[in-house]
Amino acid sequence: MNPFRKIGKIELEKTDEVLSREKPITDTQTRYGNSYYYGSSEDSSVSRESLMRKIEGTEIKELYVHVPFCERRCLYCTYSLVTGQDEATRERYVDEFSSEAEDVANRFNFEGLRTVHVGGGTPNRLTNPQLDKFLGIINSNFDGESLVEKAIEITPSEANEGTLQIIRRNGFNRVSIGIQTFNQEINELNGRLNQDSNDVRTLVRSARELYPNVSVDLLAGQRGQTQRILEDDYKSALDLDPNSIYLYQIRQGFKNRGVEEIEALNEFLSFFTQHGYEIVSHNQVIKKRNSDGYCEQRDGRAKLENLLGLGPSANSEIEGFAFTNLTPSKYLKFGRGIDEETIRLKTQRNQKALRLLRALRYFTDPSINGLNIESYREKFGSYPAEDFKDQLNVLRQNTLVTIDPTRIQITDKGMLFTQWIDNYLTGHYK
Ligand code: SF4
Repeated sequence: MNPFRKIGKIELEKTDEVLSREKPITDTQTRYGNSYYYGSSEDSSVSRESLMRKIEGTEIKELYVHVPFCERRCLYCTYSLVTGQDEATRERYVDEFSSEAEDVANRFNFEGLRTVHVGGGTPNRLTNPQLDKFLGIINSNFDGESLVEKAIEITPSEANEGTLQIIRRNGFNRVSIGIQTFNQEINELNGRLNQDSNDVRTLVRSARELYPNVSVDLLAGQRGQTQRILEDDYKSALDLDPNSIYLYQIRQGFKNRGVEEIEALNEFLSFFTQHGYEIVSHNQVIKKRNSDGYCEQRDGRAKLENLLGLGPSANSEIEGFAFTNLTPSKYLKFGRGIDEETIRLKTQRNQKALRLLRALRYFTDPSINGLNIESYREKFGSYPAEDFKDQLNVLRQNTLVTIDPTRIQITDKGMLFTQWIDNYLTGHYK
């Protein structure tokens, strides 16, 4: 793959202006962020009983498990979690999760389960014995021959060699290490204490020896962070030779939000492709497309495969329904359950828009930077050119996508505007 074509500032500003005229981004929307889109104002609400009647017995392909603990909250963090919980509370969570896992194992069909992803919060906020027990519960309820990926997120300040060994012994083959920055001052300024950069380096090196797939997360837009500091982070990450690198962004941290946010992605994609990495999404580069560094769960989500979320605040997407579990504090107080307020049945239009835009954001095919038109037709019985004729014309005219009879592909410039494309496509339901 050729290096990413870095886009000049003038061209970026011009495109940004044209797109903003076409569809302005509202205050509540992110311009170039990374969030998944779950619902729309057109979706109709459904009761919990009715939801369960419709989805029980369904085949689940992807499983996500949320561990809601962190020692303290980093200043930029908006994830659903609780801080400062004692060991006994964490033990109670593991026990409640055990009942939840047994319950869903009997309600759904996991014979074709492809991926398990454990995230947070900080999964390794559980003590090492708790973590061992917790992963054992996952294994005893959801292990199977069809599993291709078992992934877990870890926070470096709470991890040690023992943590890595326990996770590996439980059959996990991918670890994602949330570094955010190697710069100690920036971490402290942002409330991320006790993260020693040398320890982080040692941890990533040990992980590289133990795991076939090691990913690291970096974060742009942090308080006090300059472009120079971000570039140093890219160099430090590169030195560690991980299989995959993500760049996440905090919207509030940018002074001139739109253009600075795009430029951060511009630099990121350009730097790592010049050093031999390949782009697999607008904010992720990997060593080798669709093998080394690849995230299978992201692939499943891009294809709208059934995803079940366990643990507090976990999101699920099953047969067109989207819903979220109770918050961590309710889960710890009352036990597991779905938050009825969040249940939505997505319209067919919504699902089509999601399929198209996720294909443009997260490449799932080794040879296509976007959507294989035939796979879309097989799923929905129609063609994207019929469903999104006007929108695709606008994307093509602004050189954000290219279209041929078999595929719709995102351009290098389009890669920087995927969040705008998200808002644009999902805002055209009516
Ligand atoms: S460690 Fe991660 S999940 Fe925990 S507060 Fe910080 S950013 Fe949020």
